[in-house]
Amino acid sequence: MAKKQFKAESKRLLDLMINSIYTNKEIFLREIISNASDAIDKLCYISLTDDKVGLDRADYRIRITVDKDARTITVSDNGIGMSQEEAEKNLGVIAKSGSFKFKNDMSAEEAEKDDISIIGQFGVGFYSAFMVSDKVTVITKKYGEEKGVKWESTGADGYTVTECDKYKPGTDVIMHIKEDTEEEIYGSFLEIWKLKALVKKYSDYVRWPIVMDITRQEQQPTGEEDADGKPIMHTVNVTSPETVNSMVPIWQRAKTEVTDEECVEWYKETNRDQTDPAAVLRINAEGVVSYKAMLFIPGKDIDNAISGATKKGVKLYCNGVLIMEDCDKLLHDYFEFARGVVDSPDLSLNISREILQHNRQLKVIGQNLEKKIKAELEKMMRDDRPKYETFWKNFGIHIKCGVCDEYGRYTDFLKDLLIFYTSEESMRSLKEYVDTMPESQKAIYYASADTVKHAMALPQCEEVRSRGYEILYLDHPIDETVLMQLRNYEGKGFVNVLTEDLGFQTEEEKKAAEEKVVENKEVLDFIRDSIGDEKLKQVTLSSKLVSSACCLTSTGGFTLEMEKYFRNVPSEEMRKLRADRVLELNAEHPACLAIKKAYDDGDKDKAATLSKILYAQSELIAGVEIEDPTAYADLVCSLF
Ligand code: ADP
Repeated sequence: MAKKQFKAESKRLLDLMINSIYTNKEIFLREIISNASDAIDKLCYISLTDDKVGLDRADYRIRITVDKDARTITVSDNGIGMSQEEAEKNLGVIAKSGSFKFKNDMSAEEAEKDDISIIGQFGVGFYSAFMVSDKVTVITKKYGEEKGVKWESTGADGYTVTECDKYKPGTDVIMHIKEDTEEEIYGSFLEIWKLKALVKKYSDYVRWPIVMDITRQEQQPTGEEDADGKPIMHTVNVTSPETVNSMVPIWQRAKTEVTDEECVEWYKETNRDQTDPAAVLRINAEGVVSYKAMLFIPGKDIDNAISGATKKGVKLYCNGVLIMEDCDKLLHDYFEFARGVVDSPDLSLNISREILQHNRQLKVIGQNLEKKIKAELEKMMRDDRPKYETFWKNFGIHIKCGVCDEYGRYTDFLKDLLIFYTSEESMRSLKEYVDTMPESQKAIYYASADTVKHAMALPQCEEVRSRGYEILYLDHPIDETVLMQLRNYEGKGFVNVLTEDLGFQTEEEKKAAEEKVVENKEVLDFIRDSIGDEKLKQVTLSSKLVSSACCLTSTGGFTLEMEKYFRNVPSEEMRKLRADRVLELNAEHPACLAIKKAYDDGDKDKAATLSKILYAQSELIAGVEIEDPTAYADLVCSLF
């Protein structure tokens, strides 16, 4: 029988597919099953108006059978089938499939370069059978026709079509599986357990039953009895047809039908997470783009390799058929902790990571979902603060990074999700901070250190607190960047209590303070010189201190916080970087008065010792390393 040739472009793509080194060959089953399911949809639709179809909804099924000896997998459906003309048209022209259309949209050069990856990324429909088969036979009979059609191909060299007998309408796709090679054990696709697993993975929610013969071991009586008269049992293999897919996905079922608890169980099972999720979102959207989604905010950070947790991102389905396991383009990184599924009939199976970024429907879905996630988090923040704080501990860093990302593009969207530990001894949002500000307060104050405890203990905070003003205690290197990105909140600027003018002093007070510094210039210079640290640029008097003797601040762009941060970087050069320091003294404090007295009394040694001790203490309080701890300890001991 003469072989008919595939169209030129089909031949080329087919060649590539057969010879591609593509690793995800297993998707062939999904593609063949999806076609079968579509064919059943079509016949089922016809049956609504045509009694002659003679099938009830419950009669439709997709059957997978395996013949290990013949090395074949057969996927049969009792759907609409194909006429000879349709078989030739649909199976002989690869250009019909969405993947090729996309390919045509690219330049020839691009297409050449990306050939392999296109095949890798797309659902390529029927032709994917050739990734695992060296021969594919399709026996089909179109509903309403007398005769069946046998289409057969061994790949790129063409195909044959002949008439054949087939009793009922529908299609059998018989795939003759390739011989094993060193790289690929094609024979593994002939294992029932493997096929069952693939159905579960990709086609679990196909609307029609996918039936396979499953063999189980059963205990059955042998017909004989033991000495006590009890029947003797033996193990036998019993094979019976089983529906292996669960058909209706949990997210497709009505909210009234499935409880939140059931969704939680489903989440735990599919994500291998023992912890209850912090929130469950069930969305049924109809509009420009229709979709159903079920999203979860995990109760703990499951994103680590050790836990064996599932991949990042959201699973993408189109009518119950998995099209992407880890769609990380749907949500921005700031919400990448969300897990779950999105199912939209408006998406195409032929979707790749590359075109996803430009997919309009997906963009709309992503934006809607982000609004819902944000609303859910705001609700949690309002109604269940301890839960929100746990969420924040787990995933707050994503939100903070989101605020700083892309030059602040998402700052506005995310700013009300931020919470900080504050001098009110709780985690507070900026809105709460601003709403409870006394009228006299003009700015939002913050202090950063490596821990909240250290930030709280910073002497500079005293005066702010004593005025009844709240302070945000920042304890993460990114926190200051977050505030810098925000610039202000509801018109209130952010003021660093460590380095900036707090704006508390009147002009007169400022002048008096400056005069006091001038008056004491000699002793202040003496203190600086006797400390002898080239990085200590200035010793001055401070009005910020209430009960503490001293504090250390920095001058110039490189701050003490940055210095601390760089202590832990790999580069040795960076680790040595030190901020330019300013030692601020509380002139009224006994320690400072003691230095002044020793200096005035002419006991310069004592004044120098006390100065060095005070300086080391200011470094300790600021949380920066003291250069020589032993020398410091010796100095303190010399006082006894
Ligand atoms: P796509 O499904 O993206 O259109 P395919 O290459 O998978 O591309 O299939 C091409 C066409 O062949 C289908 O659109 C359908 O018309 C026909 N077809 C494939 N499998 C079957 C089947 N089991 N029953 C009826 N028609 C089928």
